[in-house]
Amino acid sequence: MKIVVATHNEGKLTEIRAILAERLGGRADGIELVSAGALGLPDPVETGVTFEANALLKARFVALRTGLPAIADDSGLIVDVMGNAPGILSARWSGEHGNDEANNRLLLAQIEDIPDDDRTARFRCAAALVVPVADPDAADGDGLVDARETVVLGEMAGTIVRAPHGANGFGYDPIFMPDDQPADAVASGELLTSAQMTPEQKNAISHRGKALRALVPAIEALL
Ligand code: IMP
Repeated sequence: MKIVVATHNEGKLTEIRAILAERLGGRADGIELVSAGALGLPDPVETGVTFEANALLKARFVALRTGLPAIADDSGLIVDVMGNAPGILSARWSGEHGNDEANNRLLLAQIEDIPDDDRTARFRCAAALVVPVADPDAADGDGLVDARETVVLGEMAGTIVRAPHGANGFGYDPIFMPDDQPADAVASGELLTSAQMTPEQKNAISHRGKALRALVPAIEALL
């Protein structure tokens, strides 16, 4: 069974492969993941106003063009005191898409005066699976009139710290301290930002890991 992952980042395939193996064991061998990038598909414009809408939009875009089941995710940071911003604008909060350092700097400046207890935040991820249904009677050209769609959410709660720490991860990881901490960090009292965690530590608690694990039953149903 071939499934297309709506991404140009091959690292995302590795993460999904690991989660499928963890949940499905040897049966995961029956799933071949291929990226939209490897198939030469462009990224769609993300016009949705929620993470769920954007994840579905990306998965539909790929499913309709390939006729294959498609997985997509969409995620971002939600800061309570900022009225849930930056939210779906996370990647471009400072104005320049993907400038992580500028995004972090701006966000820290915006909540500079907010006391520690009120700096609560969460990452949210929506993961979607769209399974196109071929309709032999369709006369409208693409032969796909219906699709089975699943969308699920995962969250990682935490706090925005006052300065960046750590070099792992990406995006807002250096300024985000997850509530869920490794046992030795708790024991030592030296809590970690998600950029100070190993990829394994972060994947075990991350919004993306949780959303993708929640999607596994829908993927399993295809086998
Ligand atoms: P995407 O939907 O995965 O492309 O994420 C959109 C934006 O949200 C990224 O550019 C980051 O700024 C932020 N973001 C999402 N997930 C994470 C994460 O795990 N760590 C840090 N930043 C993240």
